[in-house]
Amino acid sequence: MNLKVSLLFLYLLFPRFLNAQESIKPYKIRENLYAITELDGGNVSFLVTRKGILVVDAGSTPGNGEKIVSIIREVSDEPIKYLILTHFHGDHINGIAAFPEDVKIIAHEKLIENNKLFNEDQLKNYINKVYPKHMESLKVQLELLDNKETDEYIALKKEFDTNKVYYEDIKKIKIRKPDKTFNDYYKIKLADERIILEYPDPGHTSDNIVVKFSNHNVIHTGDLVFNACFPYLIVEHGVDVYNWIQILDDLYLENISRVIPGHGDVAGKRILKEQADYFRSLAYKIDALRNAGYELDEIKKRIDIKEFDLKGNEGQFSINIEVIYSELENTLNEEGQKWWKF
Ligand SMILES: [Zn+2]
Repeated sequence: MNLKVSLLFLYLLFPRFLNAQESIKPYKIRENLYAITELDGGNVSFLVTRKGILVVDAGSTPGNGEKIVSIIREVSDEPIKYLILTHFHGDHINGIAAFPEDVKIIAHEKLIENNKLFNEDQLKNYINKVYPKHMESLKVQLELLDNKETDEYIALKKEFDTNKVYYEDIKKIKIRKPDKTFNDYYKIKLADERIILEYPDPGHTSDNIVVKFSNHNVIHTGDLVFNACFPYLIVEHGVDVYNWIQILDDLYLENISRVIPGHGDVAGKRILKEQADYFRSLAYKIDALRNAGYELDEIKKRIDIKEFDLKGNEGQFSINIEVIYSELENTLNEEGQKWWKF
């Protein structure tokens, strides 16, 4: 697993290094249902039928998307008919350009608006202004080093080359409008398979959906589950931790045998509960300290990250506290002890 690297692409940062990923093998969940979890980006799943293939999520860059398509091609030659997007984050959709032109893209209706608000202009700015500046600065730094034998030069040269490849890759990103959007739920029949897409209201984002492979009791949750690593909570993107916990609790009651998370390994449905328990436990700690009269800064210092058995995205932990703290403040003010009713 390369979680540290895989999440870099959420905000299109500058990679220091990229993984050599020649040998990625899909993880077989059922005879015709696979997950790809070792990518630089969000997890992908695909379902193979005699009438075509359905894919969930598209990878973090066009190059990443190409890898996904080639991994699928090692399993089946059937046409890729559907591409389902779990939400609008770049590490799940920026690989779309690698998919066939005639693939039918399906997502929640708010994904279009979210793309407009958070992806389109930012991407243009990043590609046309931010990245060229970054490349120029790396070039200048390189030119200042006379001795090409030093570790410093070699490391910087490697960073420069990595960024050059990555920059060429992201220039090919296409933001495609879904061919079909829905609000509550959407049902797909493909050969004898039934796939249900459900919108459980905002949790991770305002457009997050859950994909249910009904014939198999398997679900793909998108980033409603970060398995064994710290989750991304982004206020502007519509995060709602209270609702997120409820979504996970509801799903946990369903007849589900395997869960494909947005990041991390495929596992049993216990990871739904683990994700909800992380939020609950953190919320209780924050609320107890709040009630004891501590301010946010002090609360952050008093909750030890080591109390949680998670690895990866550690930088998100203090943001997790901030987001839950403010949600707690607002929820308690408006609706009394709402948090404590779980
Ligand atoms: Zn996400």
